[in-house]
Amino acid sequence: MSNPMEGVGSTIRHRTRRIKGCRCHGGKLCGFARADKSRACVASLSDSLQKFSSLTVSGQRASYNLFDSDIVLLILLAYKLKWPCRMPYSQPSLLRDALRFMEKSDPCVVAGGTDVYPAMKSGRQPVTYLDVTRIQGFSDISRTHAGTRFGAAVTWSDVVKADLPPAFCALKQAAREVGSLQIQNAGTIAGNICNASPAADGVPALLALNADVEIASASRGARAISLGSFIKGVRKTALERDELVTAVIVPKTPAGMTSGFEKLGSRRYLVISTAMTAANVLLDNRGRIEDVRIAVGACSAVAQRLTALEANLVGGDPSRIAITREHLGTLAPIDDVRGTAAYRLHAVERQIRRAIARAIEA
Ligand SMILES: Cc1cc2nc3c(=O)[nH]c(=O)nc-3n(C[C@H](O)[C@H](O)[C@H](O)COP(=O)(O)OP(=O)(O)OC[C@H]3O[C@@H](n4cnc5c(N)ncnc54)[C@H](O)[C@@H]3O)c2cc1C
Repeated sequence: MSNPMEGVGSTIRHRTRRIKGCRCHGGKLCGFARADKSRACVASLSDSLQKFSSLTVSGQRASYNLFDSDIVLLILLAYKLKWPCRMPYSQPSLLRDALRFMEKSDPCVVAGGTDVYPAMKSGRQPVTYLDVTRIQGFSDISRTHAGTRFGAAVTWSDVVKADLPPAFCALKQAAREVGSLQIQNAGTIAGNICNASPAADGVPALLALNADVEIASASRGARAISLGSFIKGVRKTALERDELVTAVIVPKTPAGMTSGFEKLGSRRYLVISTAMTAANVLLDNRGRIEDVRIAVGACSAVAQRLTALEANLVGGDPSRIAITREHLGTLAPIDDVRGTAAYRLHAVERQIRRAIARAIEA
């Protein structure tokens, strides 16, 4: 054997696919590792190499004792040969740079990654990633004369901790229901709406707040559209290929408006909603409903406001809410493992009353 290192790169690639400890192949472990991924892979590779000091070279078996310098060399070789764990990852700090990147490549946009990574199919990786969490201003919650601005990288935990008026109680309650604390620490408002799941817990509360979505692209600048127009269907949004969501903006809410959120799932936490309802309520000085907004999720392809019911409730007594079939007529729940359509409608009726009561108690 003249050179025991000859052909080593492809041998490593071949071997690591079969090494049990390295689950990176297939993308499963790597899902949440994000920036730590390459480190995890390197650790896994060097572990594997320590175990496999016998390498196959040019079809022959050869015994070779690996030293640290060899391991470094082998890792570099593996990277050069595009070992399957390579993950091109861009993390700009300026919006301008992020938008230019969007224009010239077709990256997978990632914020907390709590929807992106679990949805990844084995062996099918995007060409490149654009992480928006370091962009200046993206993690800020700010209050202006026009309303409240949630930067696109604001997490659910940021929402829970923020000092917001009672009209945002439903949004905070929804934030506490998103997955677990770990998911709330990583998952963002923008990710929730861009993922456009019918069961996205943030959407009904934001609809009841009349939220707008701020969008930007390098060539066309910024635009804002209502959340109702932004989510177009299951996993469909109004975003163009080169656009990023930059913020979610809630216009000024009337003084004295309060809100409540109700979620139904098959267990208390870490559960996909069977149905959820958010209600924002403003009472007049006689205790009658002056303004009410009711939004329901997981009961149609896109969460929606129940405008007919809202109109009927104005002027009424909040403790005597009459809900008819017609009021729920725009909902189109499905039968699935979480519940039947009839059960969902029944649950929503109860949720509306509870969400209104919760809002008034707030
Ligand atoms: C274990 C677990 C439990 C969960 N439980 C719940 C739950 O109870 N309720 C619930 O609603 N959700 C739940 N989720 C889903 C997820 O956590 C939320 O939807 C979260 O808000 C997504 O935010 P993210 O930042 O992680 O999004 P990401 O995964 O980073 O992105 C989601 C989508 O949005 C796009 N995107 C993100 N930011 C931008 C941007 N600025 N511009 C353009 N596109 C963008 C991405 O390209 C992707 O398509 C759960 C997820 C997991 C893994």
